[in-house]
Amino acid sequence: MTVAVATLGFPRIGLRRELKHALESYWSGKSTLADLQSAAAGLRALNWNRQKALGADILPSNDFSLYDHVLDTSALIGAVPPRYDWAGESVDPDLYFAMARGAQQPAACGHAHGGDTTAMEMTKWFDTNYHFLVPELVAGQSFRIASTKIFDEYEEAKALGYQTRPALLGPVSYLMLAKGKAVEPLALLPRLLEVYAEILSRLAALGADWVQIDEPCLVLDLTDAQRIAFERAYSALATRGPKLMLTTYFGGLGDNLDLVAELPVHGLHLDLVRAPDQLEPALAKLQPHVLLSLGVIDGRNIWRANLPDLYWRLKALAAQRDLILAPCCSLLHVPVDLALETSLDPEIAQWLAFAVQKVEELAALAKALNEGEDASFAAFSASRIAAVARQTSPKIHDPAVTQRLAALDAGATNRASPFAARREAQQARLNLPAYPTTTIGSFPQTPEVRKARAAHLKGEIDDAAYAQYLRVETRAAVKWQEEIGLDVLVHGEFERNDMVQYFGEQLAGFAFTRAGWVQSYGSRCVRPPILYGDVSRPEAMTVDWWRYAQDQTDKPMKGMLTGPVTILNWSFVRDDQPRAESCRQIALAIRDEVQDLEAAGAAIIQIDEAALREGLPLRRSEWQAYLDWAVESFRIAASGVRDDTQIHTHMCYSEFNDIIRAIGAMDADVISIETARSQMELLDAFASYAYPNEVGPGVYDIHSPRIPAEREMTDLLTLAAKHVPAAQIWVNPDCGLKTRKWDEVRPALIAMVAAAKSMRARALVKEAYLAK
Ligand code: GLN
Ligand code: ZN
Repeated sequence: MTVAVATLGFPRIGLRRELKHALESYWSGKSTLADLQSAAAGLRALNWNRQKALGADILPSNDFSLYDHVLDTSALIGAVPPRYDWAGESVDPDLYFAMARGAQQPAACGHAHGGDTTAMEMTKWFDTNYHFLVPELVAGQSFRIASTKIFDEYEEAKALGYQTRPALLGPVSYLMLAKGKAVEPLALLPRLLEVYAEILSRLAALGADWVQIDEPCLVLDLTDAQRIAFERAYSALATRGPKLMLTTYFGGLGDNLDLVAELPVHGLHLDLVRAPDQLEPALAKLQPHVLLSLGVIDGRNIWRANLPDLYWRLKALAAQRDLILAPCCSLLHVPVDLALETSLDPEIAQWLAFAVQKVEELAALAKALNEGEDASFAAFSASRIAAVARQTSPKIHDPAVTQRLAALDAGATNRASPFAARREAQQARLNLPAYPTTTIGSFPQTPEVRKARAAHLKGEIDDAAYAQYLRVETRAAVKWQEEIGLDVLVHGEFERNDMVQYFGEQLAGFAFTRAGWVQSYGSRCVRPPILYGDVSRPEAMTVDWWRYAQDQTDKPMKGMLTGPVTILNWSFVRDDQPRAESCRQIALAIRDEVQDLEAAGAAIIQIDEAALREGLPLRRSEWQAYLDWAVESFRIAASGVRDDTQIHTHMCYSEFNDIIRAIGAMDADVISIETARSQMELLDAFASYAYPNEVGPGVYDIHSPRIPAEREMTDLLTLAAKHVPAAQIWVNPDCGLKTRKWDEVRPALIAMVAAAKSMRARALVKEAYLAK
């Protein structure tokens, strides 16, 4: 029996974000398409060489993408939305990038896809921070092979001497992720299967013996129609040429196991990191000839594995059947190589594994299973030593934090009084008008602001000069807000690099990489903080800047914090304790900050929970448990203040209907939310549930440079007032303004203040009329 090593996909961006640089240089017209293509080919070759050298036996192809693999699939099957005026030949790079990014200006080569065409919608890939372009399908949609990328890359690898296993998003997951216009996407399956069959035959003709066909939707709750679609799809495809490695990840098959066990595929990949317990039932149900690929190494998180442990878990099974060992999902979601982290605390670095190290781990594990434990003696002992060191490190364990959490009583998660009483106390203190105006926190991060930050980071300007620069910016922003008549001001967040990083850098328990970039979408990469230990807050994080800003004005200045759930969801988190526990620890640290802001005199404190919704588990049955601890964490952070201190929160999305009760349970005094893009769709949620506290439905979309007219905003507010009592409504933009230019922000906020004033005037007229 043999054990082989596969990767399901390797980071595309390159060790030093070479792909990002190549793409952005091409988009800005500084380099040619040929330059971009040769950079991309170079990265692919490097990735194949690297994975092979590290010990991978089965190499993926078509895991590379110039933007996104779901968009690649749309191109492959010719699913181009009608607004791109596609002639129906092949999808060329201009069209591809227009679908990805929109085409405001004429396309680079003056091609027909220029003009003013919007990009395809983007959304998160399952519960990761990777974003894909949502396929858009129309009634009468036809499919045909319109891109040769998957074939070209297979042949490109072959020319380099590598037999690869092409990775292809499966037809059912593709349709389940798609949005249909006047068509139920799954109804298009029969037509889509014809094209998939053709793709598979063509790959077989080129020499591919296996294809990795990704069906991550198999870990979701499925309807009967979706189950039937899987049966149809795989009975049609399993006999077409290459053997299919049906690849599932981001969770366990659960109640879909019976369905999967009946599909006539040759191989099955299981995620044993998220769902280790699914191995046994799978072994009981699967046909003996099905080749099992076991996702035993975490492809989503940066922790080093415990190889001896894994070895003992797999030893007996490896003696009985051939196995493939793999990361649980594509390595796309972790940084490339730990070797670049020369300034990371060496003790912490020892606990980590990035993509390169993960392939090495798999190779060592497979070698031991094939040749006996001693064959990987060195790797195993290093792995064991690191695991023990991590378990016992004083860097991780802070008894003071655990004791504080254990001692928290119910009082800590409740405000002293119910909302009605708080509201009275807050109004007495703040004396705000009806339809109070505010913004979400950040003002434009101009090129100058970013330049100053970079210069400070490089040591080109010293702390004092940088602080002075930030004070000037902050003061100007405060003065301007006062001038245009906003009611509740913000300091502008000029000092913050990122809403999570800024806090992580000041909290104990977080580490930061230098080059730990992970693709977020297209050329955009993020460097998530690494939450490795118990969290505490050594000293106040935001009080000085708040105080400086408040000193410039008599209007209330909001304290501005990122909430515990958002910090957690945008970090690499600990795998040695439940996420809920880590979240409560962060919540305590934020609670300390909230109390310090209050003591310094802040009457309003905003705790942003931008990422609360994205932490929702993939399976419905797990939602409530998540929402319970997420809401509890927010309440820990927010509840330590007096009645007359007003707590705000902010969320950047409007699909609220299914979690509206949990949002109510957060008991923030005021919540600001996104609504402008969905024309107050969100307010439907309030039709079935009377949101008890105050709410600021975003009155204009900050994601676009467009300047809203006063009238549009009064219309939206009038609509809002039909769903929520006027006395509960705040007036604010959709989200923070950091991505906008001042030339856009100025007229937009002036119009917004005018809209609020006109709503107030109307309310007065109405009152006078009613009094008659
Ligand atoms: N306070 C943050 C800002 O204004 C909130 C950003 C967000 O919700 N994404 O930028
Ligand atoms: Zn937002």
